[in-house]
Amino acid sequence: MSTLHDTQDQLVGRYTYALMNTFGPPKLALVRGEGATVWDSDGKAYLDLLGGIAVNSLGHAHPALVGAVTEQLTTLGHISNFFTSPPQVELAEKLLSLLGTGGAPAQGKVFLANSGTEANEGAFKLTRRTGRTHVVVAEGGFHGRTMGALALTSKAAYREPFEPLPGEVTFVPYGDAEALAAAVTDATAAICLEPVQGEAGVVVPPDGYLAAARSIADEHGSLLWFDEVQSGVGRTGIWFEHQRAGVLPDIVTLAKGLGGGFPIGAVVGLGRAADLLEPGNHGTTFGGNPVACAAALAVLRTIEDDGLLAHVSALGAHVRAGLAAEPRVTEVRGHGLLIGLDLAAPVAAHVVVAAQDAGYIVNMPTPSRIRLAPPLVLTQAEADRFLADWPGILDAAWAAAETAGA
Ligand SMILES: *Cc1c(COP(=O)(O)O)cnc(C)c1O
Repeated sequence: MSTLHDTQDQLVGRYTYALMNTFGPPKLALVRGEGATVWDSDGKAYLDLLGGIAVNSLGHAHPALVGAVTEQLTTLGHISNFFTSPPQVELAEKLLSLLGTGGAPAQGKVFLANSGTEANEGAFKLTRRTGRTHVVVAEGGFHGRTMGALALTSKAAYREPFEPLPGEVTFVPYGDAEALAAAVTDATAAICLEPVQGEAGVVVPPDGYLAAARSIADEHGSLLWFDEVQSGVGRTGIWFEHQRAGVLPDIVTLAKGLGGGFPIGAVVGLGRAADLLEPGNHGTTFGGNPVACAAALAVLRTIEDDGLLAHVSALGAHVRAGLAAEPRVTEVRGHGLLIGLDLAAPVAAHVVVAAQDAGYIVNMPTPSRIRLAPPLVLTQAEADRFLADWPGILDAAWAAAETAGA
């Protein structure tokens, strides 16, 4: 069975028989990637403006990532958490240093996991060690699919088939400091927020919201937890999105972009949250394994060495301006290369198809929203190629919607 030489239809057909139908049929069968480009099994190239959903920070097959993973895997691949290894210690130290202020590393401790939902699961357990159980989260927020993280996720369609979920969780409108203040009590263990809501379609809160969350948490002795699984690690043009507001959280969770495509997640507990989990409280077999840590270190070093934060900020502003110049786009949001836009009509599904036809991968978080989260190494020339084709993609999408009777 030479999978590599199957056509799109053959691979998708085989997928349908062999894999659970949790994601719907795959839109493409991809066989290769380089930089911000991926190729399907029929040889067609696509500019990947989704980056594995904000994961492929260094694009595809980046030599620094491939080199670090290869070297670590051929040196020491897995050892269990009875033991430690240099990449694990170095990664934890590096994360604390990047989360620090004024040149000093953050006072905190790191737990390494394998995914975003697992990082959030660990953080959720950590909040229980305060002796309180109530958590306040935002409507539109997405925190993952395991039972605990799902309990914090607002979308009814994700939650309802699996209720009852762990409580007690209060949902408040995102960006509304008054609603947050009204929901938090002295029984609240934590406030958990994305500093920018990713899955909701890149929703940026009003200025002052994160600072208000900090003071509300302080007033009630609650922990402030920022889920930076999507927004963290340079995606928005700074290391962590909450640093834009200058607000210091008690917990930060990370995953997606951290490993550049290698699965890894992290819980960072700062201040009093650093020592709430004690021996026996939590664990993982794979979390913090040397290969994943080497991958994350390669990502962090490359972002630093190649000046990618400045590149991401500048290119993001350029792309947002280009997208906003199109009259069928009613709003463009985001920072750096986490970009969301609203369309004048609910034709996002047609935009995804038209973009794919034209050789671009984009994502629709809602029927009228498009999200872009391309590799941080996307070049200006690649971005400009997309912006030049953007009006034509919208023409095709609007025409298809009309044909479909939308
Ligand atoms: C994707 C995401 C998660 C879940 O991460 P997985 O690796 O898919 O489990 C959690 N929080 C946020 C903000 C995310 O974007």
